[in-house]
Amino acid sequence: MKEGTVEKELKYLYALQQVDTQLQEVQDLKGDLPSIVEELQGRVNELKSKLKGLHDSLKQAKIDRDEADVGILDCGEKIDKYKGQQLHVKSNKQYDALTREIEAAEAKSLKLEKEMGLLEGKMQLFKSDIETIMPQLEELNAELEGKQKELREVNKEHEKEELKLQHEREKLVVRVEREDLERYERIRKAKGGKAVVPVKRGACGGCFNRVPPQKILEIRQNLKLYQCEHCGRILVSDHIVEMSLSLT
Ligand SMILES: [Zn+2]
Repeated sequence: MKEGTVEKELKYLYALQQVDTQLQEVQDLKGDLPSIVEELQGRVNELKSKLKGLHDSLKQAKIDRDEADVGILDCGEKIDKYKGQQLHVKSNKQYDALTREIEAAEAKSLKLEKEMGLLEGKMQLFKSDIETIMPQLEELNAELEGKQKELREVNKEHEKEELKLQHEREKLVVRVEREDLERYERIRKAKGGKAVVPVKRGACGGCFNRVPPQKILEIRQNLKLYQCEHCGRILVSDHIVEMSLSLT
């Protein structure tokens, strides 16, 4: 890198750090709200799909029950018809044949009645599950709406500030070498936010370990990017800090 280029690079990196710190502060003000909203939304969706499943099952059970009901009526009509025919038969053989038909229809009717009973039992279970879930869902929905409203208000409150900071960030990011930006992001992620720190009273501004005097001299010369031997953060001199402050 050309002389002066490193100085600029450090200046932009330090300015970027300041912007990111402020953005983090805005995020901290929002606190747990975004994750609470997300979690509640997940639970609401879960209950909704459970409820939909129950409604579908109830609908199907009702269709099956109605079919069984029609089947029973059908059997009843057949039995009546056969009994009527029995009054007019000419032979015992015909009479017995009709008796067998009647018995078959009665057996089918019994089977259908049993099925109907089972289906009605199922329907009761589905209904009571639905009745249990409905108020839970309503309660959860109300909680979600409340938190969403809170989050919207907090977002609105900080919207302008956030936009301004994001805009500043975009301007700085394009000025920093890609390689340095990647290094910056990596350290920032690993160190919980601070990647670029000033040397303060002979110590790293991040981990507060001593920086050797010779290294402090080199850092002041801005000839290359120096990282703290202990925490790996990028170290800058007071001069860079002052210049960065006039940047943003
Ligand atoms: Zn350090």
